[in-house]
Amino acid sequence: MRLTTYGSEYRIEVKHDCEKAIKHSYVVDLESLAASMKKLDPTIIESTRVVIIDGVFKVVTRPMRFSDVVKLFHQSEGKKELSPDDIKSIALSNLLSMIERVDDTTDPMFIEQWLKTLTTPSINKITEAASQLNDWGPDQVVKLKCRDCGEEMRVELPLNPVSFFSE
Ligand SMILES: [Zn+2]
Repeated sequence: MRLTTYGSEYRIEVKHDCEKAIKHSYVVDLESLAASMKKLDPTIIESTRVVIIDGVFKVVTRPMRFSDVVKLFHQSEGKKELSPDDIKSIALSNLLSMIERVDDTTDPMFIEQWLKTLTTPSINKITEAASQLNDWGPDQVVKLKCRDCGEEMRVELPLNPVSFFSE
């Protein structure tokens, strides 16, 4: 599955599993999806996970909010192609949205600067801990009508902005 975005609208290339299916491009509107998911926004779930980085920093991760995802989409708005720097900055914002605090600091500016000093294995450790919390249940599935057989199909969206953009 490949996604490209344009504002809150994004295209998914999906191939149904029916006999004569070929790959088609379908449009999903993120804002309406966000609205339908509002009730289930994981901000209401009080779950955090703690990871220790470099043996001293205590990082408290939290599930990414759907609103964070929307924000990340807007960050790439109007860009047909993202530069490596864009990808890097999106990845950073993505990570930032999953961190509640580092030690006693909740200041995002400070945390952002701190993240930039970390090694890749440390970053991965934080990402892994946070990703385990990103369970939004079945509602990140969109229903699309197959253009080949007309049947409704359920397509699961990989709601991780980094995977949206990096492929
Ligand atoms: Zn089909």
